[in-house]
Amino acid sequence: MTNESALREQICLLARSLFDRGLTHGSTGNISARTEDGGLLVSPTGTSFGRLDPARLSRFDAEGRLIDGDKPTKEMPLHSAFYDTRSSAGAVVHLHSCHAVALSMMPEVDPDDFLPPLTPYGLMKLGRVKLLPFFLPGDPAMGAAVRGLAGKRSAVMLANHGPVVAGKDIEAACNAIEELEDTARLAMMTRGMPRRALSAEQVQAIVTKFDVEWDA
Ligand SMILES: [Zn+2]
Repeated sequence: MTNESALREQICLLARSLFDRGLTHGSTGNISARTEDGGLLVSPTGTSFGRLDPARLSRFDAEGRLIDGDKPTKEMPLHSAFYDTRSSAGAVVHLHSCHAVALSMMPEVDPDDFLPPLTPYGLMKLGRVKLLPFFLPGDPAMGAAVRGLAGKRSAVMLANHGPVVAGKDIEAACNAIEELEDTARLAMMTRGMPRRALSAEQVQAIVTKFDVEWDA
């Protein structure tokens, strides 16, 4: 199997796993990954994460031209915004995951720190998560908002819509977005309770020990 066909299989396998666990539904969500030649593989528009076909993924060359496969997701500008601003990005995943969307509607959420500091892995895998405002689906302003962060965040939350996470490879991006949804779930589960989140000192200790990218 070539590296590219292995990557195609991996994208579809991980998307299917996210779908099977209810992390995105219907034909929502999109996923992309860098190929060895500097191009991209992208989930096609209107497809379900449960049924992506490795042979039909949209294939871009290093110059950003569509050279093979089906028409890509209409959220392409969102993916490009991460690749263009974060040289470390090897994959980008976007989901419509329930608890993250619910949390984005809560009035107390700080747009600069969408997730409260609840668990070490949430911090380690995501750093600080930026809550972006609501945009109409497909609005190019979404990509512009990500570019506005100048590559300083690997994860953003689109209000009333869903999270978008970049990672060094497809597995890292999927693991990180799962962490985002899980932390949002914990936040919703414990909302209004006198919960003990991690202290500022504990957060700092985690950031230092694990060299977390922490945009101040
Ligand atoms: Zn979406």
